[in-house]
Amino acid sequence: MHIRQLAARKRIALVAHDHKKVDLIQWASQNKALLTPHELYATGTTGKLLEVALDTPVTRLLSGPLGGDQQIGAMIAEGRIDVLIFFWDPMSAQPHDPDIKALLRLVVVWNIPIACDRASADFLMTSPLMSQPYESILPDYDAYLQRKV
Ligand code: PGA
Repeated sequence: MHIRQLAARKRIALVAHDHKKVDLIQWASQNKALLTPHELYATGTTGKLLEVALDTPVTRLLSGPLGGDQQIGAMIAEGRIDVLIFFWDPMSAQPHDPDIKALLRLVVVWNIPIACDRASADFLMTSPLMSQPYESILPDYDAYLQRKV
């Protein structure tokens, strides 16, 4: 069994599409006390807004359409992000749709807790597991890795 050890202090990535940024910033401001004990990461524009709203440092990656979603996906694959809050917009087409799909796929590949709307973010952030160490059981990819090609 493959396990990823998550520390009590989580590495949380936050991303919001343009029409969802107000929602995310409002939610994050209301949940500032729950968010700021953790290590925060975000795509470029979301991160800039979050830093101001929360008055706390946020590690800013590239803007989503310029590669930020892919950077978060790579960090997930490398075990450098524990939780994703991703307010994606179901009502607008995005230029980086393939990147969004890729990110959502890697979340499941690596058993990452994710919230895509405010209610899910509320449930996720108030989980007692957010402030405790956690053993994440990864899917077993051994058979895949050892396949004959
Ligand atoms: P942004 O990127 O935070 O730089 O706007 C978000 C996204 O569209 O993925």
